Amino acid sequence: MPAPPDLRALLAAFFAPAPAAGPVALLRAAFELRARSSGALTTAAMLESRRPIEGGPWCPRLFGPLEPLRCRCGRLVGPEHRGETCERCHVLCSDEPLRERLVAHVDAPFGLVHPALAPRVAALIGLSPDQLRAVLHADAVILADGRLVAQDDPAIDWDDDMSYETGVRAVRRRLAILADPELAAAGLVPADLVLTSVPVSPPGERPLYHEPHEHEDRWFRALWSDRVGRDNESISALTSRALRGARLVELDAPKIILDRECADAQRAFEAMLDLLARPPGDPARAPRPLSGWLPAPLRGEDEDHVPGTLYRFRLAGAPAVSDAHDRYVHHRAPHRPEVPRACVLADGDRALIQLGYLVLLVHWPTGHVLWTKPVTEAVLLGARGDWALFGAKYGRQLDLEDPTILRGLYALDLSSGTWLEGPYPDHLPAIFVEKDEPEDAWLTDWRGQRGAPGAEDCSGDRPNEWARSPDHRYIWMTSSPDDGAVLDTERGVAVLMLSHMREPPGDGVRAVALTGPERDEEDVELDDQVGAGIAIARPRGEWRTLLPDGRLRRDGRVALEFTGAAIECAAFDLAGDRLLLVNRDALHVVDVAHGLLLAQLDLRPLAPALALPESLPRELADLLLAHHGTLAAALAQPDAHLRELGAGDAQLADLRAEPPPHVVPSRLLGTCLDGHAS
Ligand SMILES: [Zn+2]
Repeated sequence: MPAPPDLRALLAAFFAPAPAAGPVALLRAAFELRARSSGALTTAAMLESRRPIEGGPWCPRLFGPLEPLRCRCGRLVGPEHRGETCERCHVLCSDEPLRERLVAHVDAPFGLVHPALAPRVAALIGLSPDQLRAVLHADAVILADGRLVAQDDPAIDWDDDMSYETGVRAVRRRLAILADPELAAAGLVPADLVLTSVPVSPPGERPLYHEPHEHEDRWFRALWSDRVGRDNESISALTSRALRGARLVELDAPKIILDRECADAQRAFEAMLDLLARPPGDPARAPRPLSGWLPAPLRGEDEDHVPGTLYRFRLAGAPAVSDAHDRYVHHRAPHRPEVPRACVLADGDRALIQLGYLVLLVHWPTGHVLWTKPVTEAVLLGARGDWALFGAKYGRQLDLEDPTILRGLYALDLSSGTWLEGPYPDHLPAIFVEKDEPEDAWLTDWRGQRGAPGAEDCSGDRPNEWARSPDHRYIWMTSSPDDGAVLDTERGVAVLMLSHMREPPGDGVRAVALTGPERDEEDVELDDQVGAGIAIARPRGEWRTLLPDGRLRRDGRVALEFTGAAIECAAFDLAGDRLLLVNRDALHVVDVAHGLLLAQLDLRPLAPALALPESLPRELADLLLAHHGTLAAALAQPDAHLRELGAGDAQLADLRAEPPPHVVPSRLLGTCLDGHAS
């Protein structure tokens, strides 16, 4: 139901005044709306967990209850309380359509100039409308001698004692000593042309919106049904500026800060009016397409790049191995070299597993270890075709010497086991979660120079990438794997909250028994290192999620339950039909649709190859493994190389004197579904 006609007329007289209406009609509307106001907004925030925030542009105390005959807190419910105001939440219990009728206001004690009043203001104080605008935006200042000059006019000697005025306060001071017969006839004075409050229209006039998308599902709708429209965004922007300005006036802030804040508030006011003056169907007021992608923020060395432009880059080859000192500070060396950190199920029945210091590629139906490589400083993210992609923990870094070389992203050719050095192929994804500050994570498309903020995505504090779908379309971005959001990398928005997928398992859920150790909750050292044991895929429009509770859900319903052992890392294959589950002792491949174990390989023979002699100092061991993956591989190197890594003569002699270290077995034994030992 729309606002009643008299209110509609008042709102139109303020927000979209007819050109011939004149200042008196506008000021009358402003005073009338102020007189009707339920109160001042005290915050610019609108909603939290889909509930309006007290004092904000959606507040039920100011604008009426959200539900008929129910106060906010639920103390007053039903017709017997009609007309009563709750003592606790101060919301009126009513079934009137108040949210279409009640107005509130934003206080702006420092003053705002309505653009429709600006010509009169300019004429009164002897400026052109453009000059007035420049003063209101603090782009121009009025010197003590009355000259109007640009804020940074190089011809002026701007010393500390320079006396000048700018902004709405300068305008207001001049108006205070003037007279205007037309205003006087209406009982007004010129200073009234500077508004000290701005009406806020009823919420019913500025609805929330939801823009449907062909691929979205019910979890997405739960997430985005409360996305605010542009009207609300503009009101919120003005409110936040005005509240800050009012606070600075209260604090008697320095002039330069106050001028800047007043100018920002004036700009927000003009932007809001520009939007609200348009008819409701105007494209400018239409909701933005639901995309979280924005030009990526420029950081340090990428200042040469224009955000949003297609950026072709080259990869630097293998991830660097930082020196012992750096590692001590920045990189916590894995305490357990045998614990799996990440895995992917690649084309050609190959499983790539990242342990503490090395990755190994296994042909899982036969158990053949195709190769191993040292990889410490980058995390396995996923695969595409013959490529495995790795990302550095803190995101991209352009090379200082050559800004087309991108560090922090690495591609490993699975067939040859070599790192890509040179142009990055167009068909490989370049989408990652990266961080500036730990609290501040972005979903970033390095190629398109786009970024989508993590804060909006309900991903919690200090989010990280925890899992991605095998097609790289969805990324699970969260601060802990128990919760967080899955982001759609095509649109840059959250499409799924994991906490919305909490249905308990029904009857008859198939259990799949795994081999290996139970999750060790006590081992805090392991916490940093171990994978999260989670995985996502969305084949053919169906969400498949493996949550840390060891349950595989298909569109929220528990389909399989894995029992008997911890899952330290997990990944679906590209079709989403097979699931790789890895712990310290075993690798499992599961047929998702039938809950069948297709293969199970014993990983325990890896442990001796990864073990280190007690005599080897921790930091040296860390470096040897970081460079070579295993001690056996390190010791195959000449002494000179080991000395370069920091091994002393005595240490070298000790190492060479030890019995030869175990090597990674060329084949892992296990069982396949058909029962033949392989
Ligand atoms: Zn209440």
